[in-house]
Amino acid sequence: MALTLLQTKDLLKQLAIHPKRKWGQNFLVAPAFVERSLKWAQIKSDDVVVEVGPGCGTLTGNLVQEKTHVFAIEKDPVLFEHVRNTWNTVCIICEDAVQYPVGLHKADDTNYKIVANLPYAIASIWLDRILELPQLPTRMVLMVQTEAADRWFSRENSKKFCPLSIFLQSTYQLEHKCTVAKRCFYPQPKVDSTLLSLVKRPQYFTFEHTCKQFIRNVFVHRRQQIGRVCKELQSPYARTLISFLQENAIDLSCRAECLPIDVWQRFALRCR
Ligand code: SAM
Repeated sequence: MALTLLQTKDLLKQLAIHPKRKWGQNFLVAPAFVERSLKWAQIKSDDVVVEVGPGCGTLTGNLVQEKTHVFAIEKDPVLFEHVRNTWNTVCIICEDAVQYPVGLHKADDTNYKIVANLPYAIASIWLDRILELPQLPTRMVLMVQTEAADRWFSRENSKKFCPLSIFLQSTYQLEHKCTVAKRCFYPQPKVDSTLLSLVKRPQYFTFEHTCKQFIRNVFVHRRQQIGRVCKELQSPYARTLISFLQENAIDLSCRAECLPIDVWQRFALRCR
């Protein structure tokens, strides 16, 4: 059963927990969004599901009830103990999800999904780690800060367009999205939240680690002319980008934020 506001407050009191901002402890107290998360993830029995930051366990309890195999990562030692003692089938570790993005799940051979109300401070860096795994989750249903959701799914010519928009959209398509009111959390966050459902593309494109690093470096100077940025960076990738743009008749005075995702993909292929 998903936890209501009263049940969450009672549980936190029993555990003597005062929600910590540094760990993004804004607990979901709207059962309708727990149900929606499971529905969007198309959860069925025997699914392998990773949950980041189970907290009081409002999503976890429902995932267990659906007879899924849950792998969880929780940084707060008291909440970790609570989840471990409440659901003995959950494989949970008390660690940082940035270091263990899918916990103890071996992301190399099994299809798996991710369902998480993410701690907002680590959302983008954690997602970046996920995109580097040898096997990617088939679906992810993620509660994130609206500002992050907007950046992740922005397109070229927008101030929000960033390297993560390129890497994520090359791999996942956005299936559903909805805003979630502040009152759906306890304590209420200062920022707006969005629930996203992402599905791995049938023909997805991944960028090599060093190429990603180069693209990030180019975006540090996103408002400068790309030809000048490449001259300053002076790396083999920079030289390849200049040749690639010239071969494709793309003006060297354009800016990184103006190049569409498919151009970055073709450049990445050229670097292999
Ligand atoms: N899933 C619960 C819910 O929906 O109510 C809690 C979500 S709360 C937004 C984020 C949770 O992530 C908290 O339980 C917090 O302790 C945990 N957390 C924060 N930083 C973390 C990190 N770096 N690694 C793992 N868990 C973290």
